[in-house]
Amino acid sequence: MKKSELLAHAKPHYNSDQLLEIDHAIDLATKAHANQKRASGEPYIIHPMIVADTLIAWGMDTDSILAGLLHDTVEDTNITLVEIENIFGRDVANLVDGVTKVGKARSGMRDLTSYSPQTKDNLSKLLIAIGQDIRVIMIKLADRLHNLSTLQYLPPDKQTKIARESLEVFGPMADRLGMGRVRMQIEELAFSYLDPKEFKRLKNLMKKRLGRSTRKLGKIYEEVEVAIKKHDIKFEIDGRVKSVYSLHKKLAKVQGSIDDIYDLIALRIIVDKKEDCYLVLSILHTLYKTMIGRIKDYIATPKPNGYQSLHTTVITTAEQIVEFQIRTHEMHEYAERGLAASFHYHDQKLSKNYIKGKKSATLPNSMQWITQLQEVAAKLKDNEEISKAQLNIDLFKNRIFVHSPKGDIYNLPEGALPLDFAYLVHSDIAKRAYSFRVNGKIHPFDKPLQNGDIVEVVTNKLSQPKQTWRSMVTTTHARNKLQGQLRKIGMAEMIANAASVIRRKK
Ligand code: MN
Repeated sequence: MKKSELLAHAKPHYNSDQLLEIDHAIDLATKAHANQKRASGEPYIIHPMIVADTLIAWGMDTDSILAGLLHDTVEDTNITLVEIENIFGRDVANLVDGVTKVGKARSGMRDLTSYSPQTKDNLSKLLIAIGQDIRVIMIKLADRLHNLSTLQYLPPDKQTKIARESLEVFGPMADRLGMGRVRMQIEELAFSYLDPKEFKRLKNLMKKRLGRSTRKLGKIYEEVEVAIKKHDIKFEIDGRVKSVYSLHKKLAKVQGSIDDIYDLIALRIIVDKKEDCYLVLSILHTLYKTMIGRIKDYIATPKPNGYQSLHTTVITTAEQIVEFQIRTHEMHEYAERGLAASFHYHDQKLSKNYIKGKKSATLPNSMQWITQLQEVAAKLKDNEEISKAQLNIDLFKNRIFVHSPKGDIYNLPEGALPLDFAYLVHSDIAKRAYSFRVNGKIHPFDKPLQNGDIVEVVTNKLSQPKQTWRSMVTTTHARNKLQGQLRKIGMAEMIANAASVIRRKK
């Protein structure tokens, strides 16, 4: 990768001032890494430039590109954070610092490790690092992607170590951020190093199977096209092939053969509007026999990382089993790019708002857990007491989605109780909680919510938080808010009691 190439990729997306900064950062990084080489023997600067190029392709803001270019300078060269801050500003310096720290945390040095729960889980360290700025993780993902694609130059033991960590930490991380395409790239590369034999075997197996089914699929493709066209719906249709790694995972899960996997190829139909998704679904179901239990409405109930689509598996007239995925362009964009889709190039609004304290306002709904994490991380920094076990629980539980009656979506850890939901909506609403209605029915305070529940908080002006609520919240967020409210009530009662004592004495 040459400087001119990188600048050419950047040019359409940033204004002239920003391009000047990028140009400057390339020069600075080139000078700093001047005598260093990658394991491949290439000049080191190739690496940060490719990282920056990846971030440009993901549509990240300028600060991220600059930090991508400089991400290895503080650790490996004479450049200091102060210099970076003086030239490019505090945000860029913070990002570089964050990336450096995540690296340190991973290699088991102190620093972030001291925040970490009693687990060696690297994911936790990464997640906590998000407390600083989620863009740190995205730069780290771009970094990891390039390191994975140049893994052949490292000794075998390092290959295995990096590949395993990628599969266990970075893949799930990308998934949590909704970055489906990146997750898949990381997994495929890592798996090919971790189990090269199995990777090749599955790849060949898939090739054979795909050769056969692609010919048959052509006909289905046409049938579907004709049927949808009759309804005056704008659409695109294409095939997506399952990744080798997800095939491997699925085979292990069902303990079956490749013949039991129905979504080796899925046909993807992309439309303009949400309504059209359901229309297309009903067209498909009129056309073919549906497989019971294989219809999934991830539009009404998105996956915990925000993924939305309708999935259905049908049996065609030729007895072929085919999976369809139906989504809008917007949902498709999100499925592929996830959180990166929120940082659109020179859309500085998000980046500016991203400065401490305002981060939450601009994150998509499905990424609320990041905001909660940032709150927790901020508290940890202030040395406030938070049980580490509690933190651990919040971070690693699977997440569920519940809806407000208005249709807003809220993301909670699995096992969350109604009060957790109420405190997530607003602590003033939670404070007045009198009862809960879930899917229209009265719901006890101590019964966990389920994915997809519609939760209504019934409030009463006279209700107030009770001590017994302590055992009916599970999230750190709710616990902290409740604690504060109980403290306030306690004080008010003390004052009232004191006042009545004084009155009685009079
Ligand atoms: Mn690097």
